[in-house]
Amino acid sequence: MLYNIDLKRKKNKKINLLNFNLIKMKEFFLSLGEKEFRAVQLMDWIYKKYCCNFDIMNNFSINLKKKLHDIAIIQAPKYISKQISKDGTIKWNFFVNTGYIETIYIPEKNRSTLCISSQIGCVLKCNFCATGYLGFTRNLVVSEIIGQIWYIMNIIHNNNFDSMKIFQMSKITNIVMMGMGEPLLNLKNVIPALHIILSQYGFNFSKHKFTLSTAGIVPAIKKICGKVDISLAISLHASNDVLRNTLMPINKKFNIASLLSAVQEYLKKSTANRGVVTIEYIMLKDINDTIYHAEELILLLKNLSCKINLIPWNPIKNSRYQCSNSNTIHIFSDFLIKHGFIVKIRKNRGSDIYAACGQLAGLKNIKN
Ligand code: SAH
Repeated sequence: MLYNIDLKRKKNKKINLLNFNLIKMKEFFLSLGEKEFRAVQLMDWIYKKYCCNFDIMNNFSINLKKKLHDIAIIQAPKYISKQISKDGTIKWNFFVNTGYIETIYIPEKNRSTLCISSQIGCVLKCNFCATGYLGFTRNLVVSEIIGQIWYIMNIIHNNNFDSMKIFQMSKITNIVMMGMGEPLLNLKNVIPALHIILSQYGFNFSKHKFTLSTAGIVPAIKKICGKVDISLAISLHASNDVLRNTLMPINKKFNIASLLSAVQEYLKKSTANRGVVTIEYIMLKDINDTIYHAEELILLLKNLSCKINLIPWNPIKNSRYQCSNSNTIHIFSDFLIKHGFIVKIRKNRGSDIYAACGQLAGLKNIKN
């Protein structure tokens, strides 16, 4: 069984109910000597009414409210600060017990995307990524993953903009797990979090609107294949193994061929992707951005049903890399399009506040 959350609480520590999906919530109420249907009522208070105060839950008896007060809590990560970019992107900084994480709200014309984190730091050390340089502290638990979404959606649900000194935010239409960390190295918490995100008793989010990005943890892709159905984005970033080994050390363990073969298998079992996986490819000046690389990429991806997202590399401190110039990116993109690929050049959002892809480094960038 993939889903395993400990119902027992540690000494004096209240149970955070943001950790529980419906099944676990039912077990929780049964363990209190209560009826199962209470679980649905509580999920409703949390995810439909954005209520975290047991006193307000008027379909619970005084006795039950007291029990809940004594042992449980509904608590999102602690808000520390936020920064608002000139393009409207908002970077939220949260404290989660032993470290800081970031969550990004990205408004666009017809949609708003929330980018969430899955770990504090990252072990993978991709050498173009600020989170990689942070090192790794720990996995986020379910409530810390769910809590990022709940915190932001709560503000939107309650129109709580004035107190947060925000002009306006619109409803979240898309969620991407592309913040700090490698989600497929935290399956223990990411899978139950996905259940809550997609469940009608949780955020009731469409699997077509939720994307998980991975650097390519092949055994984890195989493990979730047929069990978890979400849209997948693959951080490829290189057109051959020699180059990818230098950019992403994980490639030495799971090379491009094994990665693409696992992705093929995933696509066969997934309906969320509608048969098409997203391939992410950062554009690094003179490193991976020539027509030679585009030709290699075409050969590599010719049998994979995919769309390619070209990501202009976002600068991070003390890096030897530079972003490819705009002309080069367009030539690269046109070449791929000419060979039948669907290509999008990702807009660079929030880079003035270090909120863009690969720039997330906890409080480090704020302090510097
Ligand atoms: N660990 C996951 C998710 C993390 S980051 C993964 O590797 O996919 C989300 C995306 O941003 C990844 O494609 C990552 O490679 C990319 N990225 C990292 N640093 C970047 C940078 N400085 N500029 C642009 N994209 C970057």
